[in-house]
Amino acid sequence: MLEELEKREDNERDEEIEEEDCEEEDCLEENPSRWISNGFPEKVIIVGGGPAGMASAIYAARAGLSPLVIAPSMGGQLQGKGVDVENYPGLHNFTGPAVIASMRAQAIQFGAVFEEDLVTRIDASSRPLKVYGNSTGSIEAHSIIVATGADSKWLGIPGEFELRGGGVSSCATCDGFLFSGKHVLVVGGGDTAMEDALVLARTSKKVTLIHRRDSFRASKVLADRVMNHPVIEIQWNTVLERIEGKSLPSPDNEVDEEDEIDLDDGSVSVDADKVVSGAVLKDALTGEQRKVDCDAVFVAIGHSPNTGFLDGVVEFDPDHKGYVKTAGYSSKTSVQGIYAAGDVSDAVYRQAITSAGSGAAAALDAERYLSEEGLGNEEAEMEAELLRELSEMNDASSSHSDVGYNAYEDVGGRVQGVRESFGAEM
Ligand code: NAP
Repeated sequence: MLEELEKREDNERDEEIEEEDCEEEDCLEENPSRWISNGFPEKVIIVGGGPAGMASAIYAARAGLSPLVIAPSMGGQLQGKGVDVENYPGLHNFTGPAVIASMRAQAIQFGAVFEEDLVTRIDASSRPLKVYGNSTGSIEAHSIIVATGADSKWLGIPGEFELRGGGVSSCATCDGFLFSGKHVLVVGGGDTAMEDALVLARTSKKVTLIHRRDSFRASKVLADRVMNHPVIEIQWNTVLERIEGKSLPSPDNEVDEEDEIDLDDGSVSVDADKVVSGAVLKDALTGEQRKVDCDAVFVAIGHSPNTGFLDGVVEFDPDHKGYVKTAGYSSKTSVQGIYAAGDVSDAVYRQAITSAGSGAAAALDAERYLSEEGLGNEEAEMEAELLRELSEMNDASSSHSDVGYNAYEDVGGRVQGVRESFGAEM
């Protein structure tokens, strides 16, 4: 263990040294999508690398805004989805990470640049806006698209994490079809749990809805449909204690007794890459426990949008805690120049495809704002100014003498010098 830790520390040190040694030009050659500041405020910074962020990046890049995308390398609901994304039109046999990788490549192709970092704060108290990253410090921008998504809430019970991808899911719309004709559990008593139960009831043999209280917080219309559905059984005042799994019976994956872990009551749980086989439920009033056989567990106890870094910056939706409030059918937040796309401002649909759509809309909103306000032209203006100077110097030199000094060469060299000092392709 100690040896392994030392080895990891050595590797980390080597990586740090390698990064320090990496000259800007070499790094750019290796990774042309890496962001290097050109000394001017960014036209648009996109915070988040999921479908909303990637769609914003593609649209903003194609509009010539050279967007900077700031996001951690891993993370996001699609990135964590190892099984195929079956409901994204045209991409029916790609995994989540493959969909994101493809979107990212498309954004890079049109000129989007990327910085791996976690945004911790936005300062909208003055213009340009400022985005603060964990390691990048502050970056100025004329507009910002927030697309940081939302994370599903989990129960934190044994078996839940280990069996994700093997029957434990937080998205019935995405994964429900995989359990056609099977018995599935849904946990929760809100609108999401009701919708999930109803979606699953279309394809599953039986749906058991587990709720910790004796009444739903969901809207009456959805709750009534669930309570009257012939395939859905409700277990009131019940909590899920743990989820159990088994190895898949296949010629090269024999059930191995050693994979099984004995739990306190003599039942067994198993290691990762197995599938759900059952669950232990507890009566919240009597404490009595019982086992049920099932093939999947859908946890529908809500989502937490990743919007903590926006506290005190933008207004939030009064009806949906933590979700950014947007104006009407647009991505505009309460702050001019800041836009929200995807799950950060959508408590209802929360699909990859709806997120991507709102990401495209946010890029269009940002582009319109920059055009209307005449922002983001500093680089072009500087170039025009230098060229004007060039022309004047050339006129002056040709009226006085026709030998020696070449003004185009001089100013051209200065333009090139400015380009090089900013490390930017102009
Ligand atoms: P929610 O309304 O917060 O409901 C979460 C449910 O999970 C509650 O019933 C809660 O129980 C239960 N829960 C929370 N933590 C739990 C735990 N640790 N163990 C067991 N149960 C737990 O979340 P939501 O259903 O995702 O809805 C979020 C928002 O989106 C809501 O405003 C909702 O109206 C909206 N939404 C709307 C639609 C629609 O209009 N079609 C669809 C989906 C969502 P308690 O009731 O005991 O607190």
